[in-house]
Amino acid sequence: MTRIAMQKPIVEIDGDEMTRILWRMIKERLLEPHIQLNTEYYDLGLQHRDATNDRVTVDAALAIKKHGVGVKCATITPNAQRMREYSLKEMYKSPNGTLRAILDGTVFRAPILAKGINPCVGNWKKPITIARHAYGDVYKNTEMRVEGPGRAELVFTRRDGEERRMEVFDFEGPGVLGAMHNLDASIESFARACFNYALDVGQDLWFGTKDTVSKTYDQRFKAVFEEIFENEYRDRFGKAGIEFFYTLIDDAVARVMRSEGGMIWACKNYDGDVMSDMVATAFGSLAMMTSVLVSPGGQYEYEAAHGTVTRHYYRHLAGEKTSTNCMATLFAWTGALKKRAQLDGNAPLGAFAKKLEDVSVDLIGSGTLTRDLAAISTVKNKNVVDTQGFIEAIADRLQTRGG
Ligand code: NAP
Ligand code: MG
Repeated sequence: MTRIAMQKPIVEIDGDEMTRILWRMIKERLLEPHIQLNTEYYDLGLQHRDATNDRVTVDAALAIKKHGVGVKCATITPNAQRMREYSLKEMYKSPNGTLRAILDGTVFRAPILAKGINPCVGNWKKPITIARHAYGDVYKNTEMRVEGPGRAELVFTRRDGEERRMEVFDFEGPGVLGAMHNLDASIESFARACFNYALDVGQDLWFGTKDTVSKTYDQRFKAVFEEIFENEYRDRFGKAGIEFFYTLIDDAVARVMRSEGGMIWACKNYDGDVMSDMVATAFGSLAMMTSVLVSPGGQYEYEAAHGTVTRHYYRHLAGEKTSTNCMATLFAWTGALKKRAQLDGNAPLGAFAKKLEDVSVDLIGSGTLTRDLAAISTVKNKNVVDTQGFIEAIADRLQTRGG
């Protein structure tokens, strides 16, 4: 059997614990038998991050800038306990944070749908993708406890020294106070990432804010999206037969609940944080959620939405059987392969990645399941398998459908 060739590399970012084990199994059993994998490898396993003083994370981000497509395994974000466990030199920052800071992007999260794994919302027939702005607002908040009576003001001092002041509130008693910000540049890159992604996948884009109440702050988000849409995207959306739809955030929530899905829902930072957990849970499981970071420079980094599944890893180390779901990690790979195929005009590669997705989704529909899915699937005859058994079952199906 001839293996599919790849002209250009994918940036391969290895990670930690149980997902590192899934990573190797997916490559050895599902990818390498069919593809002459062309990757540029970066080991973000915590030990190697420590050995390189985290330089490897920066190098991986720069490699994605260069090659355009990356796939990332879940990684440990160190805390005090991890410092001891791995005898780290430093408490390194979250790798995802470092990658995002360099690539400057928007994170898109979409569920993988399979027969028997039914959304709790009965009318949701198609996936809903959340596009979360990942800068500013309440996450960069400056907050204060107000102990008693006094006047709160918002003061802006220009570089030339001129001041603008506005009263926030005249407190008669104790309370709380906060101030937040965002940047035109960041909102603009968020908007472009959403419009580009919508064109890429051929789905409508929805966006909602509270601009009726927040007449300057949220209004700015609304205006930026509308300006960029009119000036750069209206024609392309028309040709693609898709729509951009702006509405109030509360109306957006109500309409999403009544919809059959199939749209990209752009959310401000906090809305995206809250709504992505709701959407992921309603569609079944975090292990069935794909995630891609899209940068305004046109680079794509694919990953699973879940972490390194530490609890399963410790069981694996103790020699016990695990039943870890590889779907989100597998779809990170197929996402990166499909993007590479699209950019390079490599039809066989794209077709193989699509087939691998279809085969694994069909397998779940047929009742062969990891334990997390067995708990929620409605199929009749369930065949609960371990981590390796699930991957082997996908490999078998790939064979029977022809390489
Ligand atoms: P987690 O790895 O997502 O796992 C939490 C729990 O969710 C697991 O214990 C398991 O539940 C279930 N689960 C998650 N993925 C699963 C899968 N593929 N198959 C089956 N069950 C799955 O989150 P965590 O335990 O909070 O974090 C572990 C480490 O991951 C931390 O060091 C954190 O820093 C890191 N992390 C990395 C990323 C990333 O790189 N993107 C994201 C989040 C967290 P049961 O144990 O009940 O089976
Ligand atoms: Mg959250």
